[in-house]
Amino acid sequence: MKLLEERILRDGRALNGDILLVDSFLNHQVDAGLMRAIGDEFARLFADARITRVITIESSGIAPALTTAEKLNVPLVIMKKNMSSILQEDLLRTEVFSFTKGAPYQLTMKRRYLEPGDRVLFIDDFLANGEAALGAARLIRLAGAEIAGIGAVICKAFQPGLGKLREAGYRVEVLANITSMSDGGIVFGA
Ligand code: 5GP
Repeated sequence: MKLLEERILRDGRALNGDILLVDSFLNHQVDAGLMRAIGDEFARLFADARITRVITIESSGIAPALTTAEKLNVPLVIMKKNMSSILQEDLLRTEVFSFTKGAPYQLTMKRRYLEPGDRVLFIDDFLANGEAALGAARLIRLAGAEIAGIGAVICKAFQPGLGKLREAGYRVEVLANITSMSDGGIVFGA
């Protein structure tokens, strides 16, 4: 997605060759117009997938997942990382290893927000090692629903997530595919 690649080149900052900071437009300050364009693009890419719900993980996936859900005209469900003690009943839970924190967390959602037979589109801001997407997929399956697609706003193709997810048989679409990242610059692939 040209608009997104241009924005990453203009405002993104590569940290130690592994982590890209995009907090000026995606996950701290948010460019709402760009999120709308991202939602339109995911909706176009998955138009044939008969999606009945969009799912993301709090908090950085929420903005692009919301515009995607709006465009597809389906509900958005937000999986929680730190479920409050007043929301304990009816929970599905799995452990996920956090790429940015380097530690595991409990990914949680209420069973009632997915129905058996739902066709789910999982949307996240980044795809790195694929642990978040695989954890989300485990919960979606536990609820008896089906993962009809996975969408990542930014994929770092030099990390193993995209390969793992495609090997597992998931349909994955990424809007900006970074093949290398260094002081010399950010390079995109197809
Ligand atoms: P994975 O589970 O695929 O290893 O990592 C995905 C999650 O880690 C995303 O939800 C995202 O929040 C975070 N993440 C992974 N790589 C980056 C990165 O380069 N920059 C930022 N800001 N977050 C990242």
